[in-house]
Amino acid sequence: MKRLSLMLAACATICSPALAHPGEFGLPAPDAGAEAPARDKVMLIQAGWLLAVPGSAPQRERTIVVRNDRIERIDAGYTLPQTITNADVGVVDLKNRYVLPGLMDMHVHLSMNSGGQAAFQIRGVADEIEAGSAAQRRDVTQLVDSIENARKTLLAGYTTVRDVGSDGWHIVALREAIATGKLEGPRILTSVATLYPGSDNGSGACSGVESCRRATRRQIDMGADLIKIYASCSGSRPCGRQDAPPTFLDDELRAIVETAHSRQLRVAAHAHGEAAIRAALNAGVDSIEHGSFTPPDAIALFRKNGAFLVPTLSVQDNIRKDIVTAKGSMLAVMQNFLAKHGPRMMAAYRAGVPIAAGSDAGIGVHGNNARELELYVKEGMPAADAIRAATVNGARVIGREADLGTIEAGKIADIIAVGIDPTVDITALQHVSFVMKDGTIFRDDPASPRAAPGAAGQ
Ligand SMILES: [Zn+2]
Repeated sequence: MKRLSLMLAACATICSPALAHPGEFGLPAPDAGAEAPARDKVMLIQAGWLLAVPGSAPQRERTIVVRNDRIERIDAGYTLPQTITNADVGVVDLKNRYVLPGLMDMHVHLSMNSGGQAAFQIRGVADEIEAGSAAQRRDVTQLVDSIENARKTLLAGYTTVRDVGSDGWHIVALREAIATGKLEGPRILTSVATLYPGSDNGSGACSGVESCRRATRRQIDMGADLIKIYASCSGSRPCGRQDAPPTFLDDELRAIVETAHSRQLRVAAHAHGEAAIRAALNAGVDSIEHGSFTPPDAIALFRKNGAFLVPTLSVQDNIRKDIVTAKGSMLAVMQNFLAKHGPRMMAAYRAGVPIAAGSDAGIGVHGNNARELELYVKEGMPAADAIRAATVNGARVIGREADLGTIEAGKIADIIAVGIDPTVDITALQHVSFVMKDGTIFRDDPASPRAAPGAAGQ
């Protein structure tokens, strides 16, 4: 219904004259009967502190002028509504808050709940797919779960996410429902199913060049925005460990990357082990997900591809919980992950590999995505760079830097606010009190209890 009215609104300004007076008659359009064009909505966001481009110094007392769904301009000082004419004008008072671009999480699983179903185990998918009704039931159940998880994610300040791996159709339905305003959630880019090397009939299974091309095209036909592959197993399995060989063969990896790139889709490779990371980068993937054991020699390959590292350090919270009861070889495996993941991420970061924040929410808790940034800072990353990883670099990973990632004239109005300076205390981003996406306000708490003492009116 909303979509229809939007179409009608667009038609009122663009279509009607042409329909009423086809060009071939060359008649002037009479004014009578023409629908009045819809009035613009202008929102004046008065920001006490503005981190317009994360990484640059915050600016004091700025007004972000949002016209409909885009940022029109940024004014110095606080612009008054009476200066705007011919529009419905609203004012948002964020004078005691720090305002920054909507956050972006490049690795979530909206239909999973805290490591619940192992939806992406390399074995076990086929049985469910063959039992068609079970797969359908799961698809519907996951749609319901993902609706709530998407809402939590948006209200936590995350306005864009990549959902990297979910079987069935629900994620595409959710993406469309959010895009058309029927449901609340972040802008979603999805890979649909994750491709894995396997001989079964799972929707992401592929074996051999032909089969891997077909599996890639299947995700594209289902509506994928990117392709996600398992270049190694899950970290809990022997084929996901530091010294494990890659799970795909080189020609299969190349077939997937070529097919995806031929349709201008990027490829995200889940990879823990050293050889898997090298093989995926050699095949031309665009990002390494997790990258737990990124070896020093892989840094040149990142550079060659212009690839990003999406670290998902939040998974360590789960490992720290589980390690208490771990025994034998599993204990050693977990200790190895905890010891190396952070330092190897930081080595890559210091060598210039761009980091894009990804939390693996779904394995972790939805709505707690900004915990990931806290972990980067704990490893030694400056907070400003952690924020960049979740804004500017997120936009670059998905090729949307012209529209997203900063607060600048012409960009989509994805804007959030927090009570204290997140470049001083990164955990401020775990207490977002204002969320705007596409120019629509989804959250505006009264003055944040975490506002800096004396922040107002400074
Ligand atoms: Zn994941």
